Amino acid sequence: HSKRSGRSSYTLYDPQLDQAATLRRNMERDLRTALDRPGELEVHYQPLIRATDGTISGFEALLRWHHPVQGSIPPAAFIPVAEETGLILRLGAWVLQQVCTDTRGWLVETVAVNASMVELQDVHYAARVEKILLENGMAPHRLELEITESAFCERATDCEKNITHLRQLGVKFALDDFGTGFSSLGRLHSLHAERLKIDRSFVAGFGTDKGDEAIVQAIVDLAQAVGMMTTAEGVETSEQRDLLAAMGCDQLQGFLLSRPLPAREIEQLLRARSLEVGSGDRYTARR
Ligand code: C2E
Ligand code: MG
Ligand code: MG
Ligand code: MG
Repeated sequence: HSKRSGRSSYTLYDPQLDQAATLRRNMERDLRTALDRPGELEVHYQPLIRATDGTISGFEALLRWHHPVQGSIPPAAFIPVAEETGLILRLGAWVLQQVCTDTRGWLVETVAVNASMVELQDVHYAARVEKILLENGMAPHRLELEITESAFCERATDCEKNITHLRQLGVKFALDDFGTGFSSLGRLHSLHAERLKIDRSFVAGFGTDKGDEAIVQAIVDLAQAVGMMTTAEGVETSEQRDLLAAMGCDQLQGFLLSRPLPAREIEQLLRARSLEVGSGDRYTARR
């Protein structure tokens, strides 16, 4: 990109845009490298806690990227680039493979994995998921795919075919970040997802915004009315935990219960808990 083409073209040159494009190109290049030498990639697991008794019912898998120069880069920064470049297909397959390996001996109901809309729209997605599960001996009903509201797909598309295929295998679905999108309640029902994950922005408003409490109660009631389970994201205080349990929310997730942790630390945690017989299985805060 030449800047030396004279004063008139200078107005057309936006150095900030140019810089952003370069950063994206570099990130794409580095992400490709990470996929070829996946020592830079790691899956962390955040416990999902039953609101009634504090026991662990499952984990959400969250991808981590330790860039050799820039250090850890948050998914919010690199997932969009992976989606734009199609690298998300390889990245998603890598995460699922890793999840199968890591969680093999974990005695929990479900492991939740985030699925991107770009993956769901890929004609081969369901077949790829089925193959990875089969090769690793992971029961499909242990997998819960988290999709966002924007992932509501049109009828008769590859997206809908993927969901139908995966549902037939026994894979479960959760609607992530619920309440932030604009889906119709009719579509919500027709998706037959097992679970609604209430976006953490509503939980964050507890205590200061009565509207947020009313919205969460309404979501929990709605879910119960249509036979869906609920998970509250972003539970950071015991007040939030207690209020959510009183509202009838089924499952809690947040830094109060546990941060996302590497597989090794989850295994230590599960071992420690299996020894605490009788003393109640309640998960104590870890910050
Ligand atoms: P998400 O699926 O809604 O995941 C929950 C996010 O909330 C995670 O951020 C988690 O670390 C964070 N979180 C959990 N508890 C708390 C809390 O108490 N307070 C606060 N403030 N945050 C909490 P993370 O790991 O940075 O991931 C961000 C997003 O990136 C995820 O949001 C998901 O949309 C996406 N993502 C992560 N891993 C993957 C992946 O393997 N594939 C795809 N397609 N997307 C992924
Ligand atoms: Mg999620
Ligand atoms: Mg979420
Ligand atoms: Mg969220």
